[in-house]
Order: sequence, then C-alpha cells, then structure tokens
Amino acid sequence: MERVLTTHFADDRYRHVDAYVETGGYSALRKALGMPKEEIVAEVRKANLRGRGGAGFPAGVKWGFLPKDLSRPRVLVVNADEGEPGTFKDRLIMSRGPHLLVEGIAISSFAMTIHVCYIYIRGEFVREAKILEEAIGEAHAKGFLGKNILGSGFDLDVYVHRGAGAYICGEETSLINSLEGKRGWPRNKPPFPAAIGAFGLPTIVNNVETISDVPWIVANGGERFAAMGVEKNGGTRLIGVSGAVNRPGVYELPAGVNLRDIIYEHAGGIKDGKELKAVIPGGSSTPVLRPGEIDVAYDIESMARIGSASGSGGVIVIPEGACMVRALMVLMNFYSHESCGQCTPCREGTGWLAKIVRRIEEGKGLEGDVELILDVCDNMMGRTICPLSEAAVMPAQSFVWKFREEFDRHIKDQKCPYGNKF
Ligand code: SF4
Repeated sequence: MERVLTTHFADDRYRHVDAYVETGGYSALRKALGMPKEEIVAEVRKANLRGRGGAGFPAGVKWGFLPKDLSRPRVLVVNADEGEPGTFKDRLIMSRGPHLLVEGIAISSFAMTIHVCYIYIRGEFVREAKILEEAIGEAHAKGFLGKNILGSGFDLDVYVHRGAGAYICGEETSLINSLEGKRGWPRNKPPFPAAIGAFGLPTIVNNVETISDVPWIVANGGERFAAMGVEKNGGTRLIGVSGAVNRPGVYELPAGVNLRDIIYEHAGGIKDGKELKAVIPGGSSTPVLRPGEIDVAYDIESMARIGSASGSGGVIVIPEGACMVRALMVLMNFYSHESCGQCTPCREGTGWLAKIVRRIEEGKGLEGDVELILDVCDNMMGRTICPLSEAAVMPAQSFVWKFREEFDRHIKDQKCPYGNKF
C-alpha cells in the first residue's frame, strides 16, 4: 500500500533536514514555487483532501474563503493542539517527520499568499515543540524558509506558539484568542476566521496532518491522492488505535478502510482473547458503536450514515467486561472540566451530566436518571457558541441509547455490576 506520510518514520535521522532532503524532501516546494498559485489550490481541491482535525471540511474549499483583496496580510495557523482524547497522530508527525509539516506550511502559504504562520501546539507537547523549533531552524538555514525562499522572492516566517493545555483551544476561534494572548474562549461566528481571524487578519486554520499531506499532493498530483481513498475522501489517514487491542498505535491506511479491519487486522484484535464490547470510532466526542456496527468504511460520509464519525482518527476499543457507565463517567468528567463556561447549557449541562452519571456508577442512581440524562442532552444541543457542548452530548446519548440496560441495572441494583472496573 502506498503511503503519504509515514514511509520514513522508522528512521531517526528523518526528522533532520539532510535526511529529509535525501528522500526527496523539499522538492515539492521547489516545484510549487514555479507553479501558478491557483494551480496549487486546484490540485489540493482535486485531491479531495478533507481536514484531518475532526470536522472534515475540504481543505481547498476552505482556502478559497480568504478574501480576494490582498491589501491586508493573511495568516496561516496550524492547529497542533490535538486535545481530543484518543487522538495522538499529529504528535507522531511532529516528532518523526517535522519537515513534512514545515514543507507543507511553505507550499500552502505560498499558494495562499501568506507570509506568516503560527504553529499552535498544546502545552504538554514540550518535546514536539522543541523538535519543530529545530526543524524550522534547519529549514531557515537551507533557504526553505525566511526571506526569498529558494530565490523565488517569496518570504515566510514560521513561529511555534505553545498553548497551556486547554482542550477548548483546539477549537479554531478559541485557539486564535489564545494565540493573541487572550483567554482561550471560543468566539461567536460569523465573522469566520477567513474574514477576521488572528490579530484581526484573514486567517486559515488547518490541522497538522492536513498541511503535511500537501507536499505529496503537489509532488504527485491531486488525482493520484484522491484515488488512494474513496469518493469525497482522498488519500490516506493516520488512525490512532488505543484501548484493549493487541497492537495499539498509529496506522497510515487509505481513507475508507474498513473499521473492523483497523481493529482486527492492523491493531491485532482484542487483547487477552476477549470479545469486543464497543468502539468509540473518532475521538471521545464521536458516538459509540456496538460490535455489530463496525463493518463500515472509515470515511466521513460512511460513518455519518451510521450516525457516528471518523472525527480526528482516534479509535478507542472497549472490551467485554468493561463498564460502560464508568467509561461515560470518565468522559463526562472530562467535558465538564474543559467547558469554558461562557454558555449556560454547556457550563451547567456538562456538570449535570458528570454528576448524574457519577451517582449512577456509584450505586446512588435515582429512578428517572436515565431520562434526565437524555433531557439534559436535549437542552444542550445547538444552543451554544462552539461544539464542545455537542461533543459531550454525542457520547452521552449514544452510550444511553446503545447500552441502556447497563444504566438501568446500575440503578436497580444500586451498584456497579462490574465492580467499578473498565
Ligand atoms: Fe465554552 Fe461550552 Fe460555550 Fe463552547 S459550548 S463556548 S466550551 S461554554
């Protein structure tokens, strides 16, 4: 199977510019600098490159939202916050192939006439931030960044900006506030960042993996990238598999690979010979699946058809014997802790959900608590500034709908039938 990103990740030298160049690195930048900008954008559109951060918006279309007027400078922000539980693939790119990202930034910035880029990286990624700083320094020294890149007359500066570890700063407007030195609160939209973003300037925010795919697309053509995936979802995806599997890790697989194959073939099946109980398919905010639902193509449209999402590419595998109420309790604690508190339905709702699920798990559940969870969820949907509220609702509803008998049993027996274990 052809790979886009991970071919050389096993080589420790690959994170340095010389080894990257030896494998053909920065030749796509050289090619791009000789191409009309519109042609680069057209290749990205042809590639069916969908945003890899979770929302799955087509990258080329997003780039087209920038105002045509070039009198105001534009900004590229790379979202390296990667805070969605179960997702750990951007970290791999930054630590094993940082020049893929740097080259992708240079090409994308040239295509959009952007001269400054910020990589907003989560605070905990101390090591990855250092590796990126080093890669940016190396790229500068070789003339791939800075003034007059490769003699083209194009200038670009790239800065690494470390966040402070808030989940909400993965949301693009909150990230922009944080980048500006303000509290990391999401903004009301419109205006969208493409019109008024970082420092009041037109801004494109793209995920690490999305931008890292761009050099391959320019080098090999958008059509070839598109052909690796399925209709509307081009290329490969980095899929992180965690939980009760024999071989947890990040796998680069074609977009549209079967979810069952991800778990049983690539990740080696369920640990200790157990049966599968549930799968959270695309990071913790995506609706949970039962074992009978995993024969599905892992692409945006196919996953939406079964009422879930491939999201940020984080597959969390839950084995038989695990308590689904306890699993939901952990998730609700997380979302309640991470709510920024601006909107009442989210601030209060996530707290209510955490409290109700906790009391059910602790054997203190009340009759009507399950209905109360669903009622709270109804009041949280579509009434908030950003999608964090829905990110809590989607697992809560799906856990209750699909594992209702476990919630009822906890309440009836006034204890956890699994002894409070995962
Ligand atoms: Fe903050 Fe939640 Fe409102 Fe998002 S939905 S802005 S996280 S309170």
